[in-house]
Amino acid sequence: MADKYDVVIVGAGAAGLSAALMLGRSRRRTLVLDGGPPRNAPAAHSHGLFTRDGVPPGELLRLGKKDLGAYPSVEVREAVAVGASGSDGNFQVEVSGGERVSARKILLASGVVDEMPDIPGFAEAWGKGIFHCPYCHGWEVRERALAVFESGASLMHRMLLVRNLSRDLVAITDGTGVSDEDRGRLSALGVPLYESGISRIESEEGTGKLTRIVLGDGTEIEREGLFTNPPQRQRSELAEMLGCEMKYIEMMRGYTISVDPMTRETSVKGVFAAGDAGIPPAQSLPNAVATGANAATFINYALASDDVAEELSGVASSP
Ligand SMILES: Cc1cc2nc3c(=O)[nH]c(=O)nc-3n(C[C@H](O)[C@H](O)[C@H](O)COP(=O)(O)OP(=O)(O)OC[C@H]3O[C@@H](n4cnc5c(N)ncnc54)[C@H](O)[C@@H]3O)c2cc1C
Repeated sequence: MADKYDVVIVGAGAAGLSAALMLGRSRRRTLVLDGGPPRNAPAAHSHGLFTRDGVPPGELLRLGKKDLGAYPSVEVREAVAVGASGSDGNFQVEVSGGERVSARKILLASGVVDEMPDIPGFAEAWGKGIFHCPYCHGWEVRERALAVFESGASLMHRMLLVRNLSRDLVAITDGTGVSDEDRGRLSALGVPLYESGISRIESEEGTGKLTRIVLGDGTEIEREGLFTNPPQRQRSELAEMLGCEMKYIEMMRGYTISVDPMTRETSVKGVFAAGDAGIPPAQSLPNAVATGANAATFINYALASDDVAEELSGVASSP
């Protein structure tokens, strides 16, 4: 086994690279495991990130890795972390290919996966004509013919945000969970409600731009943007392997890693989580960058504290 890293970061998305930058600047020996594309890979551009509005997702990460080149203690390796064990100060991470690396701390920045519903055409339009986040892609479809597809209380929540983008708006549910009050509010606001769900999505071949939504009852409506929030799951199983406490968040429709909101340490000492994988303020690139940087500062502080404690115990025990 190679020498111990101070930190192994699982994931080289916005959260992982932001954390690596802070750790590199703190002279921490850091290994970043880059296991594949980020969550927003289906989208052509990233929006809402300070100084980088409109940059393609791959370019954003290329720039992040370029910055790390200035810090010799940081290594970025194309590999998937497939296993993890151990305890604070002495973790082992198994990397695809069979190698095991050891680290004093672990940062889980492994993101989430959006589960595509079983609707023909949905996956093809995801990130191109079907969006989960009005802040990320709403501006590009402002004043166009839009739709919101949700159930229960989420329908009104999303409708309020999307209505600010365009008044040419329809609401779609699968017929479950719309309260009489919300039904009345939609009607008063002039937002048609369709309750038979979606049976098919039609989009432009190649671009994925939305053209038509075919409803469960066969009704066809021409739309240029659909906002919905599919269920999600953790992209990596490492948090569970390490015994981290998980929490179901209704709005995210999935499990997230519980973290201390200030330090971003999980329920397992020495294991931290940042970005979409751990409870974020909201899932976005700015928050991934912020929580990654934040986790890194507390990891560095914990490492520095451990070092001092070890040195002082040596002094105390010397004759
Ligand atoms: C279609 C779409 C478009 C979006 N557009 C925007 C936008 O315009 N603006 C915005 O602010 N937000 C946007 N978002 C949200 C944004 O993508 C996420 O909030 C952000 O990517 C979270 O960053 P992250 O680093 O936590 O996770 P990710 O970016 O998903 O990065 C996690 C990385 O970890 C890797 N990984 C996972 N498991 C392992 C493992 N075991 N070993 C090694 N590596 C691993 C993954 O492959 C991935 O590269 C969009 C989301 C979607 C779905």
